[in-house]
Amino acid sequence: PIKHIAFIGLGNMGGPMAANLVKQGFTVTAFDLSAPMLDNAVNSGCQKADSAHAAIVGADAVVSMLPSGEAVRTLYLGVHGLLQAMDANTLLIDCSTVAANDARQVIAAAGERGIDALDAPVSGGTAAAAAGTLSFMCGGEAAAVARARPVLDAMGANIFHAGPAGSGQVAKICNNMLLAIQMIGTAEALQLGVDNGMDPAVLSEIMGASSGGNWSLEKYNPYPGVMDGVPASRDYQGGFSVALMLKDLGLAMDTAAGSASSTPLGALAKNLYQLHGGDPINRALDFSSIQNLFRRPVGD
Ligand code: NAD
Repeated sequence: PIKHIAFIGLGNMGGPMAANLVKQGFTVTAFDLSAPMLDNAVNSGCQKADSAHAAIVGADAVVSMLPSGEAVRTLYLGVHGLLQAMDANTLLIDCSTVAANDARQVIAAAGERGIDALDAPVSGGTAAAAAGTLSFMCGGEAAAVARARPVLDAMGANIFHAGPAGSGQVAKICNNMLLAIQMIGTAEALQLGVDNGMDPAVLSEIMGASSGGNWSLEKYNPYPGVMDGVPASRDYQGGFSVALMLKDLGLAMDTAAGSASSTPLGALAKNLYQLHGGDPINRALDFSSIQNLFRRPVGD
């Protein structure tokens, strides 16, 4: 059984995820390039390592939560990569959102060394990371998913086996592409109603009980004042940033190019988020702020 975990990348997501592993009784050795992030992890009960290589000594599993595919490839691959130093019994779980091809490359290289590896990107954001209610979408062998389950259960509420290596990443970007399209469509429809004299709350109630109902409308309404506790009702602060949505839409478009898939609405959604995110202030706002692209100045 897995007891000792090396955790690499203790940022907005990795920090609270590692803290939950500690709470569930795992021993966690942490490494992050950023000293303040590493200090936070130590404050939540992790042991501090001075390098990724130091962190994996004696670890039963390595969990990584890094910003990009380049960071993940650099960490694991090459002569200085962790795979060269990892014990064959150590399980590799990469939770970062990266291109499916990057995930496949790392998992194949791990396989050559006899190491079980998974891509296990998450859905849920920082609140779910803190609450331990993330959804994990795993790509890799069923046996590796079974080995990882106790670790993932400590950080999440839903653990899915999406399919072979890279499938977790594919599931994640399919979901987020659909989410972006759905959010834009919802914002567009709400604005059409408002421009024609409707109360957005009344319109939301009607569409939510009708065939236009969807998650963005009913759980994450983008129109200010319709719903309590969502980013639209706090000036779009917090939540899931436009910048991160743009990253995921970029990965979706790269994946579509690789498989020659037609994704016209995904391409348009990316384009509209690029237009909206052209203003650096908007890039930091929650992705439901796309409503502002349609809203008219007061009095217009
Ligand atoms: P973040 O930037 O807050 O954290 C990343 C951390 O990795 C930083 O602390 C950074 O110093 C560290 N790091 C970078 N390169 C490193 C290396 N080579 N070695 C050690 N540490 C290194 O990002 P985040 O919001 O925690 O996101 C992490 C991943 O989770 C991303 O792939 C993101 O797309 C995905 N994700 C984020 C959210 C969200 O809401 N923030 C939701 C779902 C998925």
